[in-house]
Amino acid sequence: MPDFLQLGIRKEINHTLKSLGLVTPTPIQEKTIPSILAGKDVIAQAQTGTGKTLAFVLPILEKIDSSKSDIQALILTPTRELAQQISKEIKKMIENLEDINVLAVYGGQDVEHQLKKLKGAQHIVVATPGRLLDHIRRKTIDLSTVEMLVLDEADQMLHMGFLPEVDDIIYETLSTRQTMLFSATMPSEIRSLAKKYMLEPENIQVKAKRITVDEIRQIVIETTDRRKQETLLHLLQEHRPFLGIIFCRTKIRAKKLQEALIANDYDSDELHGDLTQAKREKAMKRFREAKIQFLVATDVAARGLDVEGVTHVFNYDIPHDVESYVHRIGRTGRAGGDGVAFTLVAPKDLDFLRMIEKGIGQTLEKQVIKGISIPDRDDYEQERSSQIKKARRPISKEKAGRASEAPSRNRTNDSRRKSKTTTSSRSKRTR
Ligand code: ADP
Ligand code: MG
Repeated sequence: MPDFLQLGIRKEINHTLKSLGLVTPTPIQEKTIPSILAGKDVIAQAQTGTGKTLAFVLPILEKIDSSKSDIQALILTPTRELAQQISKEIKKMIENLEDINVLAVYGGQDVEHQLKKLKGAQHIVVATPGRLLDHIRRKTIDLSTVEMLVLDEADQMLHMGFLPEVDDIIYETLSTRQTMLFSATMPSEIRSLAKKYMLEPENIQVKAKRITVDEIRQIVIETTDRRKQETLLHLLQEHRPFLGIIFCRTKIRAKKLQEALIANDYDSDELHGDLTQAKREKAMKRFREAKIQFLVATDVAARGLDVEGVTHVFNYDIPHDVESYVHRIGRTGRAGGDGVAFTLVAPKDLDFLRMIEKGIGQTLEKQVIKGISIPDRDDYEQERSSQIKKARRPISKEKAGRASEAPSRNRTNDSRRKSKTTTSSRSKRTR
């Protein structure tokens, strides 16, 4: 296997990588670094946690001409947390280099402060689309010198509705630029985006190796909707996680659960779109430093985040697609550490559970916490039968979630099929 030097990374950076314990390139890095160095457009698809960040950061650093003071590389990311994370990673890599500057530009940050920094020489800008467009419109940033453009987590940008902004931004860059697209999945919209903006791109795909999934102990806790909170509290008591992320389906549910955790004396904070930037940053910082034990998060807020040492992931609400499940549980067990992922499953979640099991090709271990998660079978049966009744009712707007999308796809049940549209638009709004 080649090392970073052999891939064309200079020795100063290689040294830094080594000091961080990064010796062997991951498969996606091994494949993309030479192509990017060769100036090719690249479409890279690999799961979360496979080292995509360095796959583009390292060759970009090689290609920056620090004698010029222009912005040469632009990295677009869907969330501010990710923008911060990437710019931090770049800063780590250039610690022993001279003269390369990187700036993160994202919403919620002090604009004046950003403006001042934009006046200095910045070679690499890491940005979220919204704030960057602000700067473009105010003419406070000039992207006409951008030779390298990265769209990171492209699928997530699509889901968050950022593609029109991305369009506008790309228009500002050099038409001769090199374009790189990184994504965990490749929906057709992303493919057409690539077609539009890329020149004979090289398609690099690292087969869904599900590394993350295999190395993580995954346990399903059968419970009921009514007992969920109690069940979670019991799990926290019993397993005493060192650092845990608890995923909720909506901001409101995250907020509620956070309140319950605080009321039960847990050191915990929330991470979702309703909070101010300052609050989100503070929560992340305290979590990274292990000053709080738990982060109650929604999918979007926690997307792509890489926190070392997360020992437990709790799916308080089961995710509604396989990809999110893999992303969520991939927050733990990173870099070879042990990880446990608990998924709380109420009767109405059983279809999703089946879909996930099918998707990852694994039947998950199931547990019931005696006397707590399902105190008597009645509670469970009650929810289950009301669930069945609902499923039979024609067009159930309220429930269904994206249930129809997955496990019940094969069923020719009209009511479920129709509910798909109602709920997928709903789930967009709750993001
Ligand atoms: P992705 O963007 O694919 O989700 P990241 O770039 O966030 O993945 O990387 C995930 C983790 O893997 C990070 O903690 C990173 O430091 C680590 N990592 C990256 N490259 C390597 C490597 N070559 N060897 C070991 N760990 C690595
Ligand atoms: Mg990433």
